[in-house]
Amino acid sequence: MRVLEPLIELVRGLWTTLRSMFEKPVTIQYPEQKKPVKVRFRGRHILKRYENGLEKCIGCALCAAACPADAIFVESSENTDERRFSPGERYASTYEINMLRCIFCGFCEDACPTEAIILGDQYELSFTDRRQAIYPKEMLIEPIPAGGASTPQKTEPGKYTRSVPEMKDPQD
Ligand code: SF4
Ligand code: SF4
Repeated sequence: MRVLEPLIELVRGLWTTLRSMFEKPVTIQYPEQKKPVKVRFRGRHILKRYENGLEKCIGCALCAAACPADAIFVESSENTDERRFSPGERYASTYEINMLRCIFCGFCEDACPTEAIILGDQYELSFTDRRQAIYPKEMLIEPIPAGGASTPQKTEPGKYTRSVPEMKDPQD
């Protein structure tokens, strides 16, 4: 019987190999195929706009204050009705995130009073140089929505006085 043992083990091994050939593969052909991310996945940041194209960010820097990695730099400037970037008094004239520092905790998203910054589902971040890891506002801001206009906009006097709009409960 001991003589047959290696043969039994060999057949068992071959059976395992044969069986796996008919199982559904767990690997995917990345980058041609991509796995959908989980609902609460936190990827690359996006700065949002309103439907008319105005920027949601009001340059308050609460996101920078909340960031535990000191990854965000915000500089704000004054809006006017002639040159309006966002509702309210100020907008972010400079907005940068250092992706080498970011730990994708989502605190910036939670701290933002206007829901201007969100962490999206983009996870393909690569750089070949440290400077490339600093994402400026131009890279972070989303495209102008259909029917909207680019910023700065000339707006009706007194129409966009509120920096923080009426908020609905944030949704995941
Ligand atoms: S996700 Fe976290 S670490 Fe990254 S910028 Fe936002 S607050 Fe900072
Ligand atoms: S993203 Fe939000 S918290 Fe950060 S500066 Fe803009 S409005 Fe303020």
